[in-house]
Order: sequence, then structure tokens, then C-alpha cells
Amino acid sequence: MEVSLVNNTLDTVVALGANLSLRSQSPEMTLERAVDAMETSGLVIRARSRFYKTPCFPAGSGPDYVNAAVLVGSELPPRSVLDILHEIENRFGRQRQQRWGMRTLDLDIVCCGDQVSPSLKEYNHWRLLPSTEQMKSAPERLILPHPRLQDRAFVLVPMADILPDWTHPVLGQTVRQMLDNLPDEDISAIQPL
Ligand code: ATP
Ligand code: MG
Ligand code: MG
Repeated sequence: MEVSLVNNTLDTVVALGANLSLRSQSPEMTLERAVDAMETSGLVIRARSRFYKTPCFPAGSGPDYVNAAVLVGSELPPRSVLDILHEIENRFGRQRQQRWGMRTLDLDIVCCGDQVSPSLKEYNHWRLLPSTEQMKSAPERLILPHPRLQDRAFVLVPMADILPDWTHPVLGQTVRQMLDNLPDEDISAIQPL
């Protein structure tokens, strides 16, 4: 039987971040192992950024992060990809006590091609939510593109290693252009390991 695939396999980018060691395993090693775990779970890693040391977000709330991004190929719908990522986060000791709190591993889907999900209206709701509200509430559904990617040098700098010309389907800007909109000091704070 022929399986019909919607355009959800193209340019799926996963952002990785960690700022807490897991037992004796450093955040850098956790990221290495998380990429291996993604492959073992059936996600094809088509490209991988460098690993970066990035200042803690929000500022002052803990140790520096290690961040990276990978370009993933999968025939699964993005929701199933996120379920795999959550399962890997759990395996690597992720606990959610506080929104944007310190973590052993965070795996977010940055984008799946030019998909806007679940609707433009809901996407815009999360994109435009003031950050004080974002601190208090998290979306239950998968939002694509990630509603805050354009604000985050720690996502855009690694993403520029693997997909600099991806164009945001709502904002109409490439990764390079979104980086150009950020303050220079945000970008220079992100250093390859
Ligand atoms: P942020 O999303 O601002 O980076 P976070 O990664 O710390 O914050 P999590 O606790 O990992 O937030 O996720 C909160 C919820 O966001 C999860 O329940 C997850 O299902 C949902 N979510 C919605 N869209 C996405 C996405 N594109 N990538 C990852 N999680 C998402
Ligand atoms: Mg995150
Ligand atoms: Mg997350």
C-alpha cells in the first residue's frame, strides 16, 4: 500500500539545550547522547550544528547552557517526533518544576518546513503573548514554528550552521535576517565550544 506523506518531513529542526549535569554526565555529553538517542529512535540526523556555550536564560537563573541544533528527517508527523523527543528528555532526567527553569535536557521542535500549526491564529497567540504570561503558561499543543525562535540567539546561531536560508513562514525572514535583528551582544555571547 502506498503511504501518502504530507510535507512534514522537510527541514525539521530540533533545538537542544542543557545546563545541568546528569549525575557525572556533563551537559555537552548529554547533548551528544541525546543526538545518538534520536537516531536510535528512528530520526535521521541530516545535519548537526556546532555545540555552543550560551549564557543562562533567563539571565542569572543558573549555569551557562550548551545549545545545538540538528536537522532531522522523519516520516512521522511532527507531533510523533515531539513525543519521541519528550521520551528522550525523560530518559535524560528532565523535570519540569518551573517554566524556563534549569534542565538536564530540553528538546524543542523549531520548525517543520513551512508548517504553521495548529492554526495561524493560535500560533500568533503564543508568539505575541507577553513574556510574563509565557513564564506562567505553556502550550499543550505543538506550536509551529516555535513561537520564540526569532527572539533567541541561542536557537538562531546554531540553526545558522545547518539551515541559514530557512525562511520563517509567518515573519517572512531567513535565519540570517532574524539574527541581524538581534542585538550584537546577544550574538557575541554565544560561543562555539
Ligand atoms: P520554550 O518552549 O519557551 O523553549 P521550554 O522548552 O522550557 O520553553 P517545555 O517545558 O519544554 O518548555 O515545553 C512546554 C510545552 O510546550 C510542552 O508541553 C510541549 O508540548 C509544548 N510545545 C509546544 N510547541 C512546542 C515546540 N515547537 N517544541 C517543543 N515543545 C512545544
Ligand atoms: Mg525550550
Ligand atoms: Mg521544551
